[in-house]
Amino acid sequence: MKTIGLLGGMSWESTVSYYKALNEGVKSQLGGLHSAKICLYSVDFAEIEMLQHQGKWDETAEILSQAAKSVAAGGADFLMIATNTMHKVVPEIEAQISIPILHIADATAKSLMAGKITKVGLLGTRFTMEQDFYKGRITEKFGIDVVVPNRDDQTIVHDIIYNELCQGEITLNSKEKYLAIIQKLAEQGAQAVILGCTEIALLVQQSDTSVPLYDTTEIHAKQGVEWALSEARCN
Ligand code: GLU
Repeated sequence: MKTIGLLGGMSWESTVSYYKALNEGVKSQLGGLHSAKICLYSVDFAEIEMLQHQGKWDETAEILSQAAKSVAAGGADFLMIATNTMHKVVPEIEAQISIPILHIADATAKSLMAGKITKVGLLGTRFTMEQDFYKGRITEKFGIDVVVPNRDDQTIVHDIIYNELCQGEITLNSKEKYLAIIQKLAEQGAQAVILGCTEIALLVQQSDTSVPLYDTTEIHAKQGVEWALSEARCN
């Protein structure tokens, strides 16, 4: 079994989900007392969040590159970054390590293609919904159209992530707001919606809506288990 390098803490609430899903995935494949080999580096999210909102992405890239080097030195065979947003700095991290990165947008797009989804809605932080590092990659590399909420709805989605979900606060009021926005995306022609922030599944689950949901935490962790258990080189 390969060792998974995991950059977590963004926020730690979703790292808990990753840790559980990776271990459950390995256990369900191998049975008994088997569990995932994980080298976890968990950052202080307050530092990252402050730099994000100040637009100091170079500094976030430096923190995560150092963390990535640490997990590589700790024996990780490949790297997973347990947040969609921070995939913005994947090129900078990639340049500093020799182990491969399992990109969350690639894992998600492959899952969308398997579901024959050609037009998808995207929920995430404002950075993920607005900028091109994520939705651009899904469109350019995989040919899937991505629609995002309007500006006001983006603000609602973004604020709930930072002010509630990343702080472990789950409320019915916010769930209803998310479900209304998911419905609007479906009305704009989205055949499915990407939960493109690793905490959203703490708030909204598939049983809440008839719109198909693609939970990036679950998808990323599932593919991580596949890489960990595969004989082949990671790619
Ligand atoms: N975990 C979130 C994501 O998947 C948001 C927190 C962050 O900015 O990293 O994008």
